[in-house]
Amino acid sequence: MVLGQLGGSISRALQQMSNATIIDEKVLNDCLNEITRALLQADVQFKLVRDMQTNIKKIVNLDDLAAGHNKRRIIQQAIFNELCKMLDPGKPSFTPKKGKTSIVMFVGLQGSGKTTTCTKYAYYHQKKGWKPALVCADTFRAGAFDQLKQNATKAKIPFYGSYMESDPVKIAAEGVERFKKENCDLIIVDTSGRHKQEAALFEEMRQVSEATKPDLVIFVMDGSIGQAAFDQAQAFKKIVSVGAVIVTKMDGHAKGGGALSAVAATKSPVIFLGTGEHMDEFEVFDVKPFVSRLLGMGDWSGFMDKIHEVVPMDQQPELMQKLSEGHFTLRIMYEQFQNILKMGPMGQVLSMLPGFSAELMPKGHEKESQAKVKRYMTMMDSMTNEELDSTNPKLMNESRIMRIARGSGRQVRDVMEMLEEYKRLAKIWGKMKGLKIPKGGDMSAL
Ligand code: GDP
Repeated sequence: MVLGQLGGSISRALQQMSNATIIDEKVLNDCLNEITRALLQADVQFKLVRDMQTNIKKIVNLDDLAAGHNKRRIIQQAIFNELCKMLDPGKPSFTPKKGKTSIVMFVGLQGSGKTTTCTKYAYYHQKKGWKPALVCADTFRAGAFDQLKQNATKAKIPFYGSYMESDPVKIAAEGVERFKKENCDLIIVDTSGRHKQEAALFEEMRQVSEATKPDLVIFVMDGSIGQAAFDQAQAFKKIVSVGAVIVTKMDGHAKGGGALSAVAATKSPVIFLGTGEHMDEFEVFDVKPFVSRLLGMGDWSGFMDKIHEVVPMDQQPELMQKLSEGHFTLRIMYEQFQNILKMGPMGQVLSMLPGFSAELMPKGHEKESQAKVKRYMTMMDSMTNEELDSTNPKLMNESRIMRIARGSGRQVRDVMEMLEEYKRLAKIWGKMKGLKIPKGGDMSAL
C-alpha cells in the first residue's frame, strides 16, 4: 500500500535523525525536508505541508532546548502531533444514537464508492444493534438502484427506491418518511455521484439535503484521488454541510494524502476507511492510532485492546512492566507468538504490533507468516531457560545454536534467522524502555 510507503519514508527520516550524534539545525532541516518530500509524494496539499513544517520549527526551537532534553523525542512528538492535527479538525462528527431517528446523507464523486459504502455503514451499525434503512436517491446512474437493492438484500437491510420516478428529491423525501414511520433509527440516503463542474447536479444535491434535513452529511472519497481531493471536497462543503469523511479503496493504491487534504477542506473528521469491496471491509478510523501506525510506532490502543482480550488478566501488568524495563527476551517473544497465534485473524492484529507487521508478516501472506511463527516456536522449544530469559546477546554461541538446530530438527541457518528476528524485535521494543505505555494508545502523552 502506498500509504505504507509514506509511513516508511517518515520513519526512515526520523531514524536518520536518531542516528546523528548531535541534533543541530541541519539535521532537523534534513529530517523535515525528507518528511515534506514524502508527504508531497503522497499527494498531501502543498500548503498543508508547508504549514506543518513551519509549526514544527516553531515548536522545536533547538537553541532553547537545554542539553539534557531528549531532542529526538521532542521532534518526533512534534511531528506526531502535527500529523494528528492535519487529520483531526478538532471537533468530532455527529454520531447517530440508537433508538432516535438519524438521517445520514452520502455525497461524493461518481465512482468514489458511495453506494458500496452506504451499505457498509448500514451493515456496521446493524451489527451493533441499530435499525438501519437505505434510500436510493441516485436516479442519474443506470443500475444504481439495482446495486443498492442487491447489497441491501444481502445484508437484510430495508431499502427504498424507484425505477420509474426520476426526481431524486421526491424519492429521498418519500423514503425518509416511510422509514421514519417504520421506526428505523438510521436512515441512510445515497445520492448520485457528481463533480464540482456539474452545477445542476450540485443544485439537485442541495435540494435533496433540504428535503431530507440530514443530521449528518458524509463525503465519500476515493483514497487514490490525490491532489484533486481538496478542491472537490471544498466544493461539496460549500453546498451541503459535510460533517464527516469516509475514505474508500485504502486497500488499493491510495496515497492517503488526499484524505488529509479532504479533512482540511471540509474541516470534518475521517470516520471510517473502506478497505475492500466486501461489506465488512470497513474500519473505524481513529487519528492517533492511525498516525502511530504510519510512523511505525505501532497502534497502541488497538494493541492494548488485544492484550486485554487475549493475555490473561494476571499476566498483563507483568508484561507491561517487563517491556517498560526494556527486557525483551526470547521468552517474551515466545509468549507474544503464542498470543499472536491465539488472536485469530493475523493480518488485523499484526499491523498493530510495533515491529511485528511489515517484515515478519507481510499482508496477504498470513498463512506463511503463521507457519514461520510456529517454526520459530519449535526452535525456541529446544532452548534452555537460561537462553530464553537472557538479555545477553553474546550468550547464543555456535555450540548452542547447533544444539538448538539438532534438537528442533532444523538447519543452523533457520536458528540464525530466528535469532536475527529476535534481535530486530528487541531493538524496536527496546525503545520502549522507560516509557509509560499510555492507556488508550495516546502516543502524544509520550
Ligand atoms: P459510487 O459510484 O460512488 O456509488 O461507487 P460504487 O459504490 O459503485 O463503487 C465503485 C467501485 O468501487 C465498485 O466497483 C466498488 O466495488 C468499488 N469499491 C468501493 N469501495 C471500495 C473499497 O474500499 N475498496 C475497493 N477495493 N473497492 C471499492
